[in-house]
Amino acid sequence: MKFKLIYPKWRKLDSQTEFHLPPHGPVVFAATLPDDVDIAFTDENVEAVNFDDAPDFVGISMMLTSQVKRGWEIADAYRERGIKVIFGGIAAMLHAEETMEHADAVFLGEAEGRMGAVFDDFINGRLKESYDFLLDFPPTESIGPARRAILNRDLYCYKGVQMVDLAHASRGCRFNCYPCCVSYLGGRTFRPRPYDRVVEELAGIDNNRLFLVDNSLAQDKEWEMGLFREMIPLKKKWCSHPIEDDPAVLDLAAQAGAWYVYQAIFDTSDYIRERIRRYHDHGIGVEGTILLGLDHHTEDYIRRLIDFLLEVKLDVAEFTILTPFPHTRAFDDFHREGRIISYDWNDYTCDRVVFQPRHLSPERLQELYYHAWETFYRDEPQNYKMFKLLKKVIEREKADNTFKHRRRDLMNRTFGK
Ligand code: SF4
Repeated sequence: MKFKLIYPKWRKLDSQTEFHLPPHGPVVFAATLPDDVDIAFTDENVEAVNFDDAPDFVGISMMLTSQVKRGWEIADAYRERGIKVIFGGIAAMLHAEETMEHADAVFLGEAEGRMGAVFDDFINGRLKESYDFLLDFPPTESIGPARRAILNRDLYCYKGVQMVDLAHASRGCRFNCYPCCVSYLGGRTFRPRPYDRVVEELAGIDNNRLFLVDNSLAQDKEWEMGLFREMIPLKKKWCSHPIEDDPAVLDLAAQAGAWYVYQAIFDTSDYIRERIRRYHDHGIGVEGTILLGLDHHTEDYIRRLIDFLLEVKLDVAEFTILTPFPHTRAFDDFHREGRIISYDWNDYTCDRVVFQPRHLSPERLQELYYHAWETFYRDEPQNYKMFKLLKKVIEREKADNTFKHRRRDLMNRTFGK
């Protein structure tokens, strides 16, 4: 049976250098399909969808709210031709009711151990409108390894440098941050995968550079330290979300190949200053993620925050505008207070003001967003700062003999040299 899996495109952050990482959700999902399913994958962010083919069944995987309208369009086009379409992924869960209007079936939840029954229903003509496994989690032992063979690797390069591969060692998050939907999707239980399953998967990835996309590694210190100990022999280099702020953990992380972290910078406190310094002291870079437009943000506050980022020598910064995604506390508050000014999901790219800020006009916040990008990268442009981070990892790879010249690999594959 021919199954076509599509990952719809979305507009990337305005002002940020555009690059495309290989997606994670579709490869994790692909690993859960029955063996007799013949899968073809299209990531519309890197190649066009061919609508002239004739798959038996189409799947649309959506991670972001900004993908849903395009996902619906693609589904409508296939369904007009009589081809059935199933949706899944985080954004399908956040927009389940709307998505059902464009779907033959919507799968909600985690797919491990469940796709056999769904495909049986499809084959026997009894596909259900909804498969609802939200908060009904499969055992983490049943996860992975992800099926990365469905990816066209050559499409995930930037200036000849192969992009990182995405992998995860855990699911869930015990925190419940204001703008985040993870607690809706996964409750508040941290669910680590068994070490041996994670190590087996990481070792099998033909890429020395990874992005551990776990919500946060800083959830259980003992587990985190155990994970890093297991990872040391792999000699992979990786970026991740935050690591526990503890010198012993940071030391192990560095030994395990921590390259840089995405760290939320939410104020100008000494705590944040020291947090960044401790990462740097362990040779770990910091990409600050800075959310603009919180209720206590005035223009002065935002300007001070930008100055602070330059002072503390962040390696890279990513500015976004607070966006009230459905099923978050931010959405509930703003919706109740009548402060949401756009419900057009294509605007929910985190670089558009879609709500009325407390202390600023929407227009002023939008201007400050551009001001933040321009100011932070005025003296050293994004490409230059990224190159400095890349140089650091290359030096470490050369030191432990794991450096591979991917540009030449790519040319060899392309020109047969
Ligand atoms: S923002 Fe990160 S740490 Fe906070 S609840 Fe969401 S996933 Fe967890």
